[in-house]
Amino acid sequence: MSDALSILKEVFGYPAFRGQQAEVIAHVTNGGDCLVLMPTGGGKSLCYQIPALLREGVGIVVSPLIALMQNQVAALCEIGVDAAVLNSSLSSQEAAAVEQKLLAGGYDLLYVAPERLLTGRFLNLITRIPVALFAIDEAHCVSQWGHDFRPEYSQLSVLHERFPNVPRIALTATADMHTRKEIIERLGLAMAKVFISSFDRPNIRYQIVDKINSRSQLFSFIQAEHPGDAGIVYCLSRKKVEETTTWLTGQGMRAVAYHAGMSMQERHLNQEKFLREEGVIMVATIAFGMGIDKPDVRFVAHLDLPKSIEGYYQETGRAGRDGQAANAWMAYGLGDVIQQRRMIEESEAPIKFKQVATRKLEAMLSLCETTSCRRLRMLSYFGETTDIAACGNCDVCLNPPQIWDATVEVQKALSCVYRTGQNFGAGHLIDVLRGNLTERVKEWHHDRVSTFGIGKDLSEKTWRAVFRQIVALGLLTTDHEGYGAFHLTEASRVVLRGEQAVHLRLQTKSQRLAEKRQVDDLASLDSVERNLWEQLRTWRARIAKEHGVPAYVIFHDATLHELVRLCPQTEDELRQVTGIGVRKLDKYGNHLIEILRGH
Ligand code: ADP
Ligand code: ZN
Repeated sequence: MSDALSILKEVFGYPAFRGQQAEVIAHVTNGGDCLVLMPTGGGKSLCYQIPALLREGVGIVVSPLIALMQNQVAALCEIGVDAAVLNSSLSSQEAAAVEQKLLAGGYDLLYVAPERLLTGRFLNLITRIPVALFAIDEAHCVSQWGHDFRPEYSQLSVLHERFPNVPRIALTATADMHTRKEIIERLGLAMAKVFISSFDRPNIRYQIVDKINSRSQLFSFIQAEHPGDAGIVYCLSRKKVEETTTWLTGQGMRAVAYHAGMSMQERHLNQEKFLREEGVIMVATIAFGMGIDKPDVRFVAHLDLPKSIEGYYQETGRAGRDGQAANAWMAYGLGDVIQQRRMIEESEAPIKFKQVATRKLEAMLSLCETTSCRRLRMLSYFGETTDIAACGNCDVCLNPPQIWDATVEVQKALSCVYRTGQNFGAGHLIDVLRGNLTERVKEWHHDRVSTFGIGKDLSEKTWRAVFRQIVALGLLTTDHEGYGAFHLTEASRVVLRGEQAVHLRLQTKSQRLAEKRQVDDLASLDSVERNLWEQLRTWRARIAKEHGVPAYVIFHDATLHELVRLCPQTEDELRQVTGIGVRKLDKYGNHLIEILRGH
């Protein structure tokens, strides 16, 4: 493996392999097929890039997304690897030039769109040259049930039939078992070695807060923890995307929108802005994100509840690909529970689908309401067990909620639903419980029901949290007519009869978690360092612009952090910094030393 390691050091500028990279690389370099399951940011690309450099011939990489291919190729060219893309973004002359260079053995790596790869013409072309390997990136695109399904992917088994001696490596960050099985079946990988890494993303801090006023909560969160950072804000509807973008912009933040209702051109423009400029906030529906490999997304915020833990994991996973500290933040409230339940009920989908959707939603709700470590819950949902009892980097670990015996309060709430005829939603019920003489209360004579005013001792906010948890626990359902009136369920009768106690979580005052950050972070820089950091960022932005690539293609934040921390003064010292290989040292070493010597 010494060859692989020296390529890692000299070409990529990294001191050591991560996780299973070394094993995967050895396996593929020796000609073996494999399936690599590694979380986002785990370092999948090196698993095929290094074997492609070690083996004879060109490594062919199948990838579903044009933007992704282009950035990868730009980054490879920056470090002196001969790489190119072949997809619909090229003119026919450009494509012909790439093909010619390919035939002449001029590439280490070629990124190809699946539809292009599968043409008879291309397959014939590559029978004429040595092929080092086939890498099938984002392999979950073969799954018919996933929302990233790409029909061409299911034909990729042809590679094995036509080129039985060329090793294939399929890679994905998908965490759920069904999809994994499907990949193995459809790509004909039954005999391939499977490498499974932990799906934990230790640098991501998970945080789910009670929704009060989600917009201003979001604003405070960004202002406190992420001023000037790039982030993604997910909303459920197009309308909310637009409103939120306008609002954030009005507050002086650099926000752009993305949803399926916008024109292609507009979407492209905003996506490019997000990828290329620094500190842009992308407000989007889940239409945005697949194949976005921007490594320095510092936070992902959810203003609405995702439908499943799979979705939540995938969306939050877009934060912190570079391994630096990142936040996954969500505001979650009663309205979310009601809305998601209703969407399932009202959908026209077959009953079997609804059952699956309900099960997934229940799992998501229990992640929101959990009183134990969120990370461990999520990992165990994906079938992963760990030895530790708590992660220390989620809101529950950092700021444990109080658990209280709410049996009596829940009985009061349920009985209030019953006494008012199962015709009302949370707002009115809370007025009745708290003894508020509103117009509505008077109109319905609810000041005369026995539950009027029996809940004065709890604040409105606490009552809302109680109702939310009752609904999440399935003790109440909402009606089908869409008025949001609560109905009792079988489960609620057991509680009303006093046969079952109910324990709820009480959010202690939401304290800022920022000061407990363990991972390296800007907040820990003093003013001199901060100054250097800004100077390096400005320099990087200028070079990136000159080269027409995103800033992270020049250097990752992690590299800039190390430069600030170590402040190297010589070439030899620079060589030790993560992300500085031979080529980058050559190109940028003098510039960097000049900037660093000023400090
Ligand atoms: P994935 O495709 O699994 O999401 P990438 O291959 O894009 O992840 O890698 C994520 C980041 O980690 C990239 O910036 C990459 O350069 C970096 N990286 C990968 N392997 C190493 C390593 N061994 N040492 C340091 N950084 C690494
Ligand atoms: Zn935790």
